Amino acid sequence: SKRFVFARQFDGPPKESDFELVEEETPELKDGEILVESLFNSVDPYMRPYTRRLPTGITMIGEGCGRVIESKYSDFPVGTVVMGRYGWCTHAVLNAKEQDPQSPIRKAPADYPKDLPLSLLLGAVGMPGMTAYFGLLKLCDPKEGETVFVNGAAGAVGSLVGQIAKIKGCKAVGAAGSDAKVAWLKEIGFDAAFNYKTVSSLDAALKEAAPNGIDCYFDNVGADFTSTVLNHMNLFGRVAICGSISTYNDKDPAKGPYPFVTILSKQLTVTGFIVLRWFPEWPQGMAQMVQWIKEGKIKHREHVTEGFDNMPKAFIGMLVGENTGKAVVKV
Ligand code: NDP
Repeated sequence: SKRFVFARQFDGPPKESDFELVEEETPELKDGEILVESLFNSVDPYMRPYTRRLPTGITMIGEGCGRVIESKYSDFPVGTVVMGRYGWCTHAVLNAKEQDPQSPIRKAPADYPKDLPLSLLLGAVGMPGMTAYFGLLKLCDPKEGETVFVNGAAGAVGSLVGQIAKIKGCKAVGAAGSDAKVAWLKEIGFDAAFNYKTVSSLDAALKEAAPNGIDCYFDNVGADFTSTVLNHMNLFGRVAICGSISTYNDKDPAKGPYPFVTILSKQLTVTGFIVLRWFPEWPQGMAQMVQWIKEGKIKHREHVTEGFDNMPKAFIGMLVGENTGKAVVKV
């Protein structure tokens, strides 16, 4: 089996030399353990800031979706499809009997449609899907006719936020980093979208794309981008602070411009969140996403990198915008 070790703390943008590929024998299973062969591994933005607090030398963190190929625990027989935070590896020995509550091993839903790719369990029907679904619906509470704006719009979370906004009868507006991404956003139903890298000013682009102002802002980017967006919000708007990808490579991302006066004068509701707060409700959210996908109301797109050895490349590429839709690695 192979795994990637988090070998060096990232300094600025992650580099391939920050990871070390290790090959080793998988150990014998003990009672209660299962051996999972990974089918897909996820690369996600959080991996950049979260590793700050972690020691080097550990298996690089991350979620994957795989199949049980050996089992010493009857609840997880051979063939079971599971999702878990087993890190960047091709095979993982997991204790299924005495599970770590911080990092549970979950079975794929029993009624997961056979014709949907299992990789969606890391995307639209997994963590990013639940982020879009609960973050938007619970914190922004979008009402029919309102304008929802999302940045990082062509990514795993953002592309779903816009489509769920449309399902709720809102006007969906998005910003993404290439013309091809913008074209795709219009294809999947966004009412307006722009390339934030080529517009003459973000202010002008927002004025044009959301002439009636923004009622719900789903923020994936943070910092200066967010300061500008707040000026375009309507009274009593709601802001879900989901991520701050524009600052993840900074030395100290906590330091930045804080537009509190705008928040005050516009009486905005601003909420930061971590999607695990709704973990008990995920099965319901996953079922809803599957239904919308089957009805054709949600289009999913994936950026699949082939081959486990390319995980660092896939991660580095996702952070600079090579992906449209969810970035995953086919092991
Ligand atoms: P994406 O699939 O959106 O991939 C990241 C994208 O971010 C890139 O494709 C790139 O697209 C964009 N990006 C990179 N740098 C910048 C920048 N400086 N300014 C603007 N955009 C940039 O990732 P996810 O959908 O998985 O995650 C989106 C956000 O949601 C992240 O901030 C992430 O941390 C957050 N998140 C938060 C969760 C929570 O519980 N709060 C859970 C899951 C995700 P482009 O070409 O458009 O620049």
